[in-house]
Amino acid sequence: MARTKSEPTHQQAAKQPRGDSSTSAALRFVVQKHDARHLHYDFRLELNGTLKSWAVPKGPSLDPSDKRLAVQVADHALDYADFEGRIAEGRYGAGEVIVWDRGVWQPHDDPATAYAAGRLRFSLLGEKLTGDWALVRTRLPGSGGKEQWLLIKERDDHARAAEEYNVTEAQPQSVISGALINRDKRAK
Ligand code: MN
Repeated sequence: MARTKSEPTHQQAAKQPRGDSSTSAALRFVVQKHDARHLHYDFRLELNGTLKSWAVPKGPSLDPSDKRLAVQVADHALDYADFEGRIAEGRYGAGEVIVWDRGVWQPHDDPATAYAAGRLRFSLLGEKLTGDWALVRTRLPGSGGKEQWLLIKERDDHARAAEEYNVTEAQPQSVISGALINRDKRAK
């Protein structure tokens, strides 16, 4: 698949000189599309040896004016990042899972501190999601004690107006296998 070349963002350029990059492993991110009771996208960021996880009902948007609800859910083990397949009936989250996007995330600040403060700003280097993003904890009361955050595309060269481009509709497939979930096959 052709990928458009673009200038490195200022964050990427600024990251290079900081510290000894040879000793700091890249932090992974993954977005799993999960057709459970309700279709949603599980947005996961590697932090402190685990995958911090948010369920995003509408999925990510490249439009900075779309602030997507992201309900924090349980941490997942790092090796879950590669999982696609079917969670069996009767199990929690039963239904299909595909790896919708994956890559590396680059926090703009100390990630543990920013996470604790409820304000993560970062760059994504994925196959579908790139550029600068923010995850911001809200004060909205979540149901069942779950914290509600917003996933927001920052304004940069990778932002796209929603009327012009909808990344979840334009690219519904797995980045590992190219597979669609059954719901999307039926819709074709
Ligand atoms: Mn899920």
